[in-house]
Amino acid sequence: MEIIKAKVTNILLDKYVLKDLQNKDEFCGILRGNIKKSSNLVVGDVVECEKSYDKYMINKILPRTNFVIRPPVANIDQMIIVLSIDNPSPDYVLLDKELILCKSKNITPVICINKMDLAEDDIPKKHLEYIKRVYGNLNIDIIYVSADKKEGLDSLYEILKNKTSAFSGNSGVGKSSLTKVLLNKTKDYDIEVGQIGKKTKRGKHTTKHVKLYELSKDTYLFDTPGFSSYELYDIEYRELKNYYDEFKKCHCEYDDCNHVIETSKVCDVKRNVEKGIIDKDRYERYVYLFTRQKQIDDKKYKR
Ligand code: GDP
Ligand code: ZN
Repeated sequence: MEIIKAKVTNILLDKYVLKDLQNKDEFCGILRGNIKKSSNLVVGDVVECEKSYDKYMINKILPRTNFVIRPPVANIDQMIIVLSIDNPSPDYVLLDKELILCKSKNITPVICINKMDLAEDDIPKKHLEYIKRVYGNLNIDIIYVSADKKEGLDSLYEILKNKTSAFSGNSGVGKSSLTKVLLNKTKDYDIEVGQIGKKTKRGKHTTKHVKLYELSKDTYLFDTPGFSSYELYDIEYRELKNYYDEFKKCHCEYDDCNHVIETSKVCDVKRNVEKGIIDKDRYERYVYLFTRQKQIDDKKYKR
């Protein structure tokens, strides 16, 4: 029997919307009974299935490159971290958390600065310089766009090409606007566009439902309303330092140095902060995240 390799693009109760990876046909599949219990199939999963009479049965979930529980998605190549240069101003604590999540899940981060049409004033300009100086140094691609003025979208599109990406960022930064503009480029999805960014009276998305859109051949975009302000729920406070590239170049006296309570006599990270080699504000955000995460972990393990 013919085995079809397909990607899960949507989940509706117990039905899975699948996209044939070869011919791009869309069809519905159901989980075969024997893998039903053990599996939690999520959007982004790649599966093997076969047609049995008029039904497509999912036999197997192929190994994931990564998996995020909240929101539940698999196989993300790239996270487009959207910031707006103004209204709202960049939230650097959230940005650092997003970068930690990316590093820990092996997802390539891209910083996408939206609302560049508002970048004329002094404060937005300072933010631009800061982001370039601190994050440009970490080998992270930075792109500049305006969803409103439809500017910089070609560079965004170029970055999305042949990858599976998700937007993240605070509410109000323009994720829905960018998604809409991108989907409008893809005629096939005219029907879906109206669904995105629809707000309830509470100002939230009408649905927390995750969907995967195919923008063009092999180019996928998750619509994941859940990637706004999330917690670093599965990272231990002691691990946090491993996700800061600028710390890796430092030579602290002790291998298990957390760069927080240690003195600058033994902590090379602290010395580098004092010298201005490591950005002081980013370091202080690290101390903040470390302290908060430690409180969460201490509570978790206290019995
Ligand atoms: P989301 O919460 O991240 O999905 O953000 P939205 O896409 O809903 O956008 C929030 C607000 O910002 C809306 O009022 C948009 O019209 C506005 N907005 C989005 N992109 C731009 C932009 O490039 N420039 C300006 N000036 N406003 C924008
Ligand atoms: Zn140290």
